[in-house]
Amino acid sequence: MPVTPVLETDALRRQDPELAEVLHGELARQSTTLQLSAAENFTSPAVLGALGSSLANKYAEGYPGARHHGGCEFADAAERLAVERARALFGAAHANVQPHSGSSAVLAAYAALLRPGDTVLALGLPHGGHLTHGSPANFSGRWFDFVGYGVDAGTGLVDHDQVRALARAHRPKAVVCGSIAYPRHLDHAFFREVADEVGAYLIVDAAHPIGLVAGGAAPSPVPYADIVCATTHKVLRGPRGGMVLCGSELAERVDRAVFPFTQSGAQMHTIAAKAVAFGEAATPAFAAYAGRVVANARVLAAHLAAEGLAVATGGTDTHLIAADPAPLGLDGRTARGRLAAAGLVLECCPLPRGDGRGLRLGTAAVTTQGMGEAEMARIAVLLAAVVRGERDPAGVRAQVRELTGRFPPYPG
Ligand SMILES: *Cc1c(COP(=O)(O)O)cnc(C)c1O
Repeated sequence: MPVTPVLETDALRRQDPELAEVLHGELARQSTTLQLSAAENFTSPAVLGALGSSLANKYAEGYPGARHHGGCEFADAAERLAVERARALFGAAHANVQPHSGSSAVLAAYAALLRPGDTVLALGLPHGGHLTHGSPANFSGRWFDFVGYGVDAGTGLVDHDQVRALARAHRPKAVVCGSIAYPRHLDHAFFREVADEVGAYLIVDAAHPIGLVAGGAAPSPVPYADIVCATTHKVLRGPRGGMVLCGSELAERVDRAVFPFTQSGAQMHTIAAKAVAFGEAATPAFAAYAGRVVANARVLAAHLAAEGLAVATGGTDTHLIAADPAPLGLDGRTARGRLAAAGLVLECCPLPRGDGRGLRLGTAAVTTQGMGEAEMARIAVLLAAVVRGERDPAGVRAQVRELTGRFPPYPG
């Protein structure tokens, strides 16, 4: 596969060797360390090709058939393909593929349904809510009145009784269901019932599991939510970006909330790459991939638990694992640094208890590389040895190099 020209073009290397060297370094880093971030993946050469294509030059403000700029016939065709493929993939009446990111998609959902000052019920940030679910440092926390529900300190599962009680007490205008660190399936039917009881909209922020939904490995929020927001670059394996799905009643409000309310020009090269990714995600190969992502995560979680880490909710239904390394004698932040030095790249996350930081891992990227259950077991052993301080990071780094060498993300 001639992928190198896509990843680092000859023109770039000739004209700007300094920057080309940086990109080469990043490719080498991605290829020789373990990408265990729950939010990352390796896009295909076809997706990268669309990103580096003619549409990177095109301005296309508005929607297909109704643009501010001229010469949009191919931009329109790319966006129509992306929209049609997203609608078919997720069984949604309407799809808006223009949001620049997952956060932009959430902003558009709020803009479509809410007014500043409205009350919103969402998973609290210390329990795994996203920045856009009411952080005081984010537009969401400044413009809306967020009330946070939580997870049970013992089980790590969303406390449904608390969700219902808070909804009754605060009568929110919208209920948000979604998390950055929850390893289980959220009960969309339950959230729909609570939202209906208090006359609220239900927004599902499916940024993480949407790729599993595409592959049939997680339940779809589409039949339950008024609006589904998502990213396209996590398990879904597309370009960095966002999208919004909804029914036909809200289609016009959602479209106006994206453009002209929160964005102007659409990023047409990214939209073209989203179309490619949706096309890939509709294949049986992607469904098989999504199943392997979950199977790998289950195995990895079980081995981490066997090594002594405290795995939140006792395991996972998804690509995501949240684990507290404290039983091995290290807090999450220190563990993350030590693991990075050993070539195991992952991030911290809040702990279900709501204090301190745990480790968040995901299996989307390593599964794209072709790793399976044997490699998950090996990764758990290496991770635990590094956290316990039994193995020096440089020695483990060499083993990681050997492992990733057998599973190159971009062969050739
Ligand atoms: C990743 C994520 C987002 C934001 O995506 P960006 O593209 O980084 O803006 C929003 N909500 C949730 C739940 C996420 O996990």
